[in-house]
Amino acid sequence: MARKSKTPKAGGPTPTPDIEDKAKNRRRGLFLAIAALPVLALFYATLLYWSSPHTGGTQLRIDQYITLLRQGRIQSATILETDNRITGKYDRGNYWITVGTRETIFSRLTSAMEDAGVAYKVKQQPLKNLIVPASMLLPALIIVDGLFILFLIMRPGGTDGMGFGKSKAKRLAVGESKITFADVAGVDEAIEELAEVRDYLGSPDKFLAMGAAVPKGILLTGPPGCGKTLLARALAGEANVPFFTISGSDFVEIFVGVGAARIRDFFAVAKTAAPCIVFIDELDAVGRSRTAMAVGGQDEREATLNQLLVEMDGFDAGSGVVVLAATNRPDILDSALLRPGRFDRRVGVDRADVRGREAILKIHSRGKPMSEDVELTGIAKRTVGFSGADLANVVNEAALLAARRGSNQVTNRLLVEAIERVVAGPEKKSRILSPQDRSRIAYHEAGHAVVSTALPGCDRVGKLSIVARGHGGGFTWMVPEGDQVTVTRSQLLDRIASLLGGRAAERLVTGEVSSGATADLEHAVSLARRMIADFGMSTNLGPYIVKPFTDGYQGQIGAGYSERIASEIDAEIQEILGTAEDRATAALVANRGAFERLAVTLIEVETLEDDALDQLLLPISSTGELDSAVTTNA
Ligand code: ADP
Ligand code: MG
Ligand code: ZN
Repeated sequence: MARKSKTPKAGGPTPTPDIEDKAKNRRRGLFLAIAALPVLALFYATLLYWSSPHTGGTQLRIDQYITLLRQGRIQSATILETDNRITGKYDRGNYWITVGTRETIFSRLTSAMEDAGVAYKVKQQPLKNLIVPASMLLPALIIVDGLFILFLIMRPGGTDGMGFGKSKAKRLAVGESKITFADVAGVDEAIEELAEVRDYLGSPDKFLAMGAAVPKGILLTGPPGCGKTLLARALAGEANVPFFTISGSDFVEIFVGVGAARIRDFFAVAKTAAPCIVFIDELDAVGRSRTAMAVGGQDEREATLNQLLVEMDGFDAGSGVVVLAATNRPDILDSALLRPGRFDRRVGVDRADVRGREAILKIHSRGKPMSEDVELTGIAKRTVGFSGADLANVVNEAALLAARRGSNQVTNRLLVEAIERVVAGPEKKSRILSPQDRSRIAYHEAGHAVVSTALPGCDRVGKLSIVARGHGGGFTWMVPEGDQVTVTRSQLLDRIASLLGGRAAERLVTGEVSSGATADLEHAVSLARRMIADFGMSTNLGPYIVKPFTDGYQGQIGAGYSERIASEIDAEIQEILGTAEDRATAALVANRGAFERLAVTLIEVETLEDDALDQLLLPISSTGELDSAVTTNA
């Protein structure tokens, strides 16, 4: 059999010969096992056929036979020992009888034959003695072969060549990823850290000579869409070593032990390729804390995680394998993973600040026809809190808008419109509001705006609209003053009041609330809950944080705190919300004139922003006296 030489094709992903061989062996094994199945079955059938005696002629009963013997009509007899038959000739041709295994019958017959003077032969049939062992062995072989096939099929990666098939782990050859650090912006610290890894892998001796400890595991953490995966791909493009990439969810399997086997295979291959980089995306899929898993009884997950821990311990810092991982949920990772010697370095990949956002916008504007008037600095200022993915989306959305409107350039106006789309979903121009709805939504949005302006802890109101977007009836867009890192208790209380401002306004004007305020209310409640549970801002509980015990994955929740604390939390949330609504109402009452004018203008023009909005908000008193008029629980 001529074998083709297996030189990897240039350019494409090049599996190591090792992997290729293993995959080939497995495929060959599976082929043989499957081919063996019909052969074995054929053997067995033949055996069954052959083992049952086949003798021609008439079958006689024993009593008939004895009668015939006595009458002298039997001419010959052959005793087939194993078949327990006697065959022979009689006056009408061939005959056969079965005699069973009883000694007495045999001796009876032989003596009858002797009496009748019939010479008989005994045939020992030595081959047929093999029937019993063979008829036990063959079915056993068939079963074993079947199990072997199942085993091969269910082993990681199935038949496509272990865990290293197309969909699972991928090995990127040097230079395969075209992405570099220049394609990532706004996350300078992370880039610096990864550049160090690149340099180390480029000349490990230099680092080792310096006695520098190079991290074995680096964990990228941060909100989704901020560039973790992108950074890893950039590292792959920058580093001059092989890069293995796999997603944590690829290790998640139903069969106990399969995930662990995949981890083992993955690392075994990686180690042979050292120096190299191993990237595990979405690490939380395997690295979920074991206590949290216990709720769901996840044996398989635990086995997989344990294997990962074992593998991470199994090579030392000088081995040239650097493990990079990414997750949005570092909080649910098993603490064992974060111990020194495993993922000992954590790198935050957070939302970019204004300069970073401008740089990201610039990256994504490359190759798009941007008009002269585009001012990315301004766009960056308007997009506080946007992730890199959001910003990419803004530029893309603007390009789409330009195309749709038959323009061949992306203008600044289109970018601004795209921001709003990304924030709130595409504008629904087609929906027609009834006059009552229009008025109610206008008062609702004006309520938000007035309360936000009146309370010092709220963001500036940037735009107000009663044109429906996404789910809400209208929207009030707040512009945060800057990239705020922390918020104070009073700022949060003000924000909750402004969230309830829409509801308060509806009640003030129409005497009742509508379902349009549901989303605001949900948001306000969750903010209040976070104040107490996450930020320790409770007045009653003191410096205390109550984290419910969640298993995140299956949504199992255990309280993690006592009934008493739970009811205190509820009471305090209600108190915060009640007070906030009162403060919102008070702010509206104190600025009734401005509130009415704002709402009426809004009904007329539908959307208010810039100078027109500022003019209407100007008369609103930002207040110290308001707060003293209503008792706050601060
Ligand atoms: P994560 O893995 O953190 O959830 P991704 O790396 O998948 O996020 O980011 C998704 C997309 O968003 C990227 O492909 C890229 O287009 C864009 N993006 C995100 N962060 C950045 C950034 N810092 N610089 C440039 N583009 C970014
Ligand atoms: Mg990602
Ligand atoms: Zn609202």
